[in-house]
Amino acid sequence: MYDPLLIGAHTSAAGGVHNALLEGREIGATTIQLFTANQRQWHAKPLSDEALVSWLKALELTGIQEIMSHASYLINLGCPDPGNLEKSLNTFKDEIKRCQTLKLRFLNVHPGAALKDSPGDCIARINHSLMSMAPLLDKGNLMVLLETTAGQGSSIGSSFEELREILNKAGELIPLGICLDTCHIFAAGYDLRDKCSFDKTIEEFDRIIGLKYLKAFHLNDSKGDLNSHIDRHASLGEGKVGLECFKLLMNDPRTRHIPKYLETPGGPLLWKKEISLLRSF
Ligand SMILES: [Zn+2]
Ligand SMILES: [Zn+2]
Repeated sequence: MYDPLLIGAHTSAAGGVHNALLEGREIGATTIQLFTANQRQWHAKPLSDEALVSWLKALELTGIQEIMSHASYLINLGCPDPGNLEKSLNTFKDEIKRCQTLKLRFLNVHPGAALKDSPGDCIARINHSLMSMAPLLDKGNLMVLLETTAGQGSSIGSSFEELREILNKAGELIPLGICLDTCHIFAAGYDLRDKCSFDKTIEEFDRIIGLKYLKAFHLNDSKGDLNSHIDRHASLGEGKVGLECFKLLMNDPRTRHIPKYLETPGGPLLWKKEISLLRSF
């Protein structure tokens, strides 16, 4: 039976990107997120022809759709240091090209961090950085997703207002959406624990950002409390958010059909269980 629900996890590309698809199939995923390169390095080896052939084969074999890349952790599109900003832009450009070669749908990126600069100037630089990618993003259907953050340190993107500011400018020029991480927004102060708070948060998202920009979810429970600004993922139902939120996400017509990616601790065996749990909701 064809199942239109897109649920998966961040699977491992160790030994070749195609392995992330094969692991996805093992755990019953209909979509996956992966790192297309080492997430802690500036430079990636170019994809070999062989890797691409294996990828395309696995794509057909598994039928996995709406695949998302998670950009390198090193990238800071709002970096106040010109040298590191340039490195970020180069790494991000390479990432976009790799995503396009692999025919991915989404590229998820942390918006950026202000470090010692003001959030306003950082947001201006993020806009500028994103808009400079317009010529690359013109072709194909890759969409860049800004990930909501927990608001740890000087990171941008823990409030819907900040994300709106980026969408206002860069969203005009490049395909841009939001990936909402349930752990991060909870840690940033948006409650999701019961129907009432869930509705309030989704309505606030709609009012400030617009639900049409909500393209993906990272499904994570949270070790940190509401408004703790701590980014620590927990398995579904094992954290401070609780299972009710995930039941609501799977049933609410506003969120049910949006692709969802687990980043919970525990690895493939646990993800398989969590995916079937989500489907049972
Ligand atoms: Zn992330
Ligand atoms: Zn996180």
